[in-house]
Amino acid sequence: MSWEDHAPTRRPCPCGKGHYTVFQRSDDWGRFEERWEMECGACKEKYGLHSATYNRKGIHETSSGWVPHAVLQEVAAARLRVEEADKRLTADAASQFGEPWRAHFDGKAKKTIWSELTEDGKCYPSLGTFYTHVRDSGLDRVLARYFDRRELSTVIRILGPSASTLGERMAEVERLERELDARSSCARQQAFS
Ligand SMILES: [Zn+2]
Repeated sequence: MSWEDHAPTRRPCPCGKGHYTVFQRSDDWGRFEERWEMECGACKEKYGLHSATYNRKGIHETSSGWVPHAVLQEVAAARLRVEEADKRLTADAASQFGEPWRAHFDGKAKKTIWSELTEDGKCYPSLGTFYTHVRDSGLDRVLARYFDRRELSTVIRILGPSASTLGERMAEVERLERELDARSSCARQQAFS
């Protein structure tokens, strides 16, 4: 599929003495891309582009605007803190609880394992999909996937109190994530567009 360029739009820059240009293109699949280019020297020194993708009623929307470089750096630093805490958490979780996690399911029937993992099918995957995953990747790899942070709550639920430290660390990463969201939405509110 080919991209189609739209006519660029010129808009006044934050200082008002120059402008920036927005280049847009789209394709037949409904994909849409935008590139913002600051063409005022003074504003280029002061501002950088902040883009945030957020979910509005299931549709991902990107909002962009010019914010001071210092604000961009704060958002980037907050993002780095989330990523690092996330990496540390998942690495520690796998090294501390990987063995007890595997041992917990040792010798159990696949259907029992599925039932524990999904609380009898309350969450993904269905039994059939679970069988397919086990057949394609092996049980060890299927179980290892639960050490992704989005899935860690399942490990905590099943291993119980012995894994409670993981719950505390998860809450800490979530706190950092909220901090990032707050900084990002603050940047979005003050963005010039
Ligand atoms: Zn300017």
